[in-house]
Amino acid sequence: MKVLVLGAGVVGTAAAWYLSRDGHDITVIDRREAAGLETSFANGGQVSPSHAQPWANPTVLPKVLKWLGHEDAPLLFRWNRWDPALWAWGLRFLANCPSRRAKINLERTLRVALYSRICLQQLRAETGIEYDQRTLGILHVYRDRREFDHAAAAADLMGRWGLRRLEKSAKDCVALEPALAASAAQLAGGILTPEDESGDAHKFTTALAALAEARGVQFRYGVTVQALVKDGDRVTGVQTDTGMLSADAIVLAAGSFSPLLARPLGLRLPVIPAKGYSITLPVEGDGAPTVSITDDEFKMVYSRLGNRLRAAGTAEMTGYDTSLNPARWHLIRDRAKALFPLAGDYSQAEPWTGLRPVTPDSVPLLGATPLKGLFLNTGHGTLGWTMACGSGRIIADVVAERQPDISMDGLGLERF
Ligand SMILES: Cc1cc2nc3c(=O)[nH]c(=O)nc-3n(C[C@H](O)[C@H](O)[C@H](O)COP(=O)(O)OP(=O)(O)OC[C@H]3O[C@@H](n4cnc5c(N)ncnc54)[C@H](O)[C@@H]3O)c2cc1C
Repeated sequence: MKVLVLGAGVVGTAAAWYLSRDGHDITVIDRREAAGLETSFANGGQVSPSHAQPWANPTVLPKVLKWLGHEDAPLLFRWNRWDPALWAWGLRFLANCPSRRAKINLERTLRVALYSRICLQQLRAETGIEYDQRTLGILHVYRDRREFDHAAAAADLMGRWGLRRLEKSAKDCVALEPALAASAAQLAGGILTPEDESGDAHKFTTALAALAEARGVQFRYGVTVQALVKDGDRVTGVQTDTGMLSADAIVLAAGSFSPLLARPLGLRLPVIPAKGYSITLPVEGDGAPTVSITDDEFKMVYSRLGNRLRAAGTAEMTGYDTSLNPARWHLIRDRAKALFPLAGDYSQAEPWTGLRPVTPDSVPLLGATPLKGLFLNTGHGTLGWTMACGSGRIIADVVAERQPDISMDGLGLERF
């Protein structure tokens, strides 16, 4: 079968890899000059089913109201624009906040994330791929006792769905990660997810693209998809800036840009860009963590990538703008410095922004569409690196009309 994968981020590249195992004729198209140069470039580095808690949940509304107008808010909605897609997304987000909905969405995301972690581990064992990976678990730390207790309850729920999470005292946290010693007095406790991992998503994407190429997958870089081409109820190809390409199957994996390509065909994907920031700095001495850390209060994550430390966080609904707002990235730098003052030279921190493709329920959009030949692999939001391998394997199964290993219930476009 002739298959086109649109987008060579971590999600599209992983899809191409799993599709290639079925012997298809595969071409991956990306407008950039190489794989993984957009949102998959400098993300938080966590492979973290432990992060599956959806944004829309009963505790978020009071927090969003409290953060309104604060430039240092972890989640910032800039509603002062008339953007129908943003408002429609916002209404669906609200509808997903009640606890019953949040639980359903947590189970769905966790289902994909746990499966994906297994797929990544198998891929690593099969190929020996290297990407500054660490398998020391992820430690969520809390300063506020109430937040800690609330998180412990959520951890119990995740435990029932197969995610092992262990409560730790502040003293245990420092024993696990001595780099926390400098800020030990701030901590109320932590929750360790021993099987979670971390690694450089960009290194992974480029290494996997090379492995896929060696298997015969073609990557066409510097090519922009202008439109999907339809004949009746079937999608038959794409119009690009270098000409037409036809295909039997098309996997839409263009991250935050997926809805723009789908809309002219009458498919409204509830995915909007949520801008986030990271900094990367060279590590000096022993002051940087080796265990990946999530600071739940500030919604920040830390991953050790070889001799670099990556700190990432914040979400801003501000359209497709990727400009670096100094106030926002300085905030990331200052919070990182407060938690890990001796990690390295913060004056050398390199800032970056990326656009998370977020759905209102935080569950990705996977599977077939009402249009024959068009498949969705997008909307992975805060967890695209975590869910890339599992999603790729699922989409390869769906394209080949095989039953995926996990239930597809609630993962597709039909839920909206
Ligand atoms: C600050 C931050 C921290 C994060 N931390 C984590 C984390 O710790 N763990 C985690 O799991 N996830 C994390 N994420 C989320 C994760 O990075 C994303 O979910 C993931 O990168 C999305 O991958 P993707 O392949 O769907 O999109 P992208 O990486 O954006 O890839 C889409 C590709 O499509 C191409 N494209 C788009 N439109 C066109 C077109 N018209 N023609 C041709 N090509 C096109 C683009 O060039 C791009 O290469 C984070 C995100 C941010 C912003």
